Amino acid sequence: MGLRLLCVWGMMAFFGHALIGQAYAGQPFSLGFPLECKLGETCFVQNYVDHELGSGYRDFHCGAMTYDGHDGTDFRIASMAEERAGVAVLAAANGVVKRVRDGVPDALMTAATKAEVAGEECGNGVIIDHGDGWQTQYCHLRRGSVALAAGRKVKRGQMIGLIGLSGATEFPHLHLTVRHKDEVVDPFAPTLAVEACSEQQSAALFDDRNQNYQYRDRIVLNFGFADGPVQTSEIEAGEMAARVPDRASGVIVAYVRVMGLNQGDVQTVSIIGPDGEVIAERAFDPLDRPKAQNVLFVGGKRPKEGWKAGIYSALYSVHHGEKGTFDKWFFLKF
Ligand SMILES: [Zn+2]
Repeated sequence: MGLRLLCVWGMMAFFGHALIGQAYAGQPFSLGFPLECKLGETCFVQNYVDHELGSGYRDFHCGAMTYDGHDGTDFRIASMAEERAGVAVLAAANGVVKRVRDGVPDALMTAATKAEVAGEECGNGVIIDHGDGWQTQYCHLRRGSVALAAGRKVKRGQMIGLIGLSGATEFPHLHLTVRHKDEVVDPFAPTLAVEACSEQQSAALFDDRNQNYQYRDRIVLNFGFADGPVQTSEIEAGEMAARVPDRASGVIVAYVRVMGLNQGDVQTVSIIGPDGEVIAERAFDPLDRPKAQNVLFVGGKRPKEGWKAGIYSALYSVHHGEKGTFDKWFFLKF
């Protein structure tokens, strides 16, 4: 897995465009949330629009939750278990369907399969024209889920497909691109000047008050206990329920998958037994660069006398200089 979590390279193949532009000057336009999930609880922003025009990358908040050239927002779900259950993609505003593509297979892209999706990076997708120069594009939908044809009118909130794994995607998510007069607009910071960033949250285009659009980093996406070392691919596949340890397990492992870590973050993970004894503990080196996602785990071996009955606690902490500490606790009962 690369450092950046890629979803769409070279959108030109689906829709020629300029990167983030200046055409938008604050004309009134608003968007509903494009997914049937709760932002910050059951879905999360993995990548924002890249606001750095050069070869670097920077999100609107001056953070690193983007990658070079990313022209939209990636809303991800926790694992493929949620993808299999089905998460509806919704039209963000009233409009007319301009383009549709379906028929691209669902498969997470790997280095070996990257060439196979060339020219179809968006996968199964929909472009909706909202009038006055506004368009929204939805990518990586599940094959066979796009039940719309070009020319069809859609209402805000109407289902247009399901989150899938089609095109150039390394994780289950919706890629949403917003354009005004063919130039990319960041829906989280629509009036921010080109190349600018600000830690002040600016007014988003989204106006659905049931969602929390606060910028978030250091998001614990998955966590739990396992009966041995953990692979990122198992977490992504949504298979960890089968790995929960019991009192016969030779080891117990506590794991976390975290998104949006910053350069300099110091992470620690520990497991504490029922009587307060430390079963495992590890501090990791400060990060030398931001990380889109990171999987960490620590484990302890079963003592000769066996595992005690009781509650085992895991603590995941992130320290960052004077900026304080972020803690996440979770528990296992034997
Ligand atoms: Zn994307």
